[in-house]
Amino acid sequence: MTRHLLSAADLDAATATMILDTAQEMANLAGHQVKKLPTLRGRTVVNLFYEDSTRTRISFEAAAKRLSADVINFSAKGSSVSKGESLKDTALTLQAMGADAVVVRHPAAGAPHRLAGWVDGSVLNAGDGTHEHPTQALLDAYTMRARLGRVAGLHVVIVGDVLHSRVARSNVLLLSTLGAKVTLVGPPTLLPVDIATALVPGISVSYDLDAVLPDADVVMMLRVQRERMTDSFFPSAREYARRYGLDGPRMRRLPEHALVMHPGPMNRGMEIAPEVADSARSTIVEQVANGVSVRMAVLYLLLGGKPS
Ligand code: ASP
Repeated sequence: MTRHLLSAADLDAATATMILDTAQEMANLAGHQVKKLPTLRGRTVVNLFYEDSTRTRISFEAAAKRLSADVINFSAKGSSVSKGESLKDTALTLQAMGADAVVVRHPAAGAPHRLAGWVDGSVLNAGDGTHEHPTQALLDAYTMRARLGRVAGLHVVIVGDVLHSRVARSNVLLLSTLGAKVTLVGPPTLLPVDIATALVPGISVSYDLDAVLPDADVVMMLRVQRERMTDSFFPSAREYARRYGLDGPRMRRLPEHALVMHPGPMNRGMEIAPEVADSARSTIVEQVANGVSVRMAVLYLLLGGKPS
């Protein structure tokens, strides 16, 4: 394993599979009475969040604590960042405190890469702008493997606001590495073909959700990211839901075994109807639980596990 996890593109198939296998072992631990491993005792993990987060921050914190690391949560609000301190100065502070790993979420694409040049510890990208979210892609792959037994050969349909989605970008990269077939679906304004095809050559693009659903093993719904929209990308929320939302009748077009995924937070009633989000096909809550095991595996392998 390399020192940092900055992009899903850093992972070859063997490394990604090793992370998923290790996550499986970590998940087995969740069934034990004592859920802690002493592996990272005496190591310090800093959660450095410049953007809001619920699941990812809590998940990394739980993961680090289950490995017995000391965890420092640093949120930009209420810190010297709001006084204008630069990322570099913050990095030097963390360095002085002896952080062994920095988990960073930042609104600017590439911020984790910059940080990696300034600290001695490992840097884990927990979401950088619209760019990447590699641990989300890993937990999604883990969930597919747990439910369907494999990732290679699956047809994964990723639907919605691809333009603003770091989840989509990291998933496309990792799923392709692991041998899945990916189709991106969304309105043309949120799915520019040049962006899609630049990611991974040969990727499929469709603007017709109903047409692709009968052939999907997994349908991954993306949140419409209004906070990143500087323009009007579709006529109305209702129109969006009508064309690209997953509702009950649409869900019934899926094959019997197909899964419905969503990284959260959901806009219920927009990209996903409540009856779908709460259905037996939905893996949304499982994805959150799997996130802890996957992040334990990544921290373990970067900090305490097999040397690079
Ligand atoms: N939670 C995910 C992310 O941080 C997905 C989303 O926000 O829509 O990228």
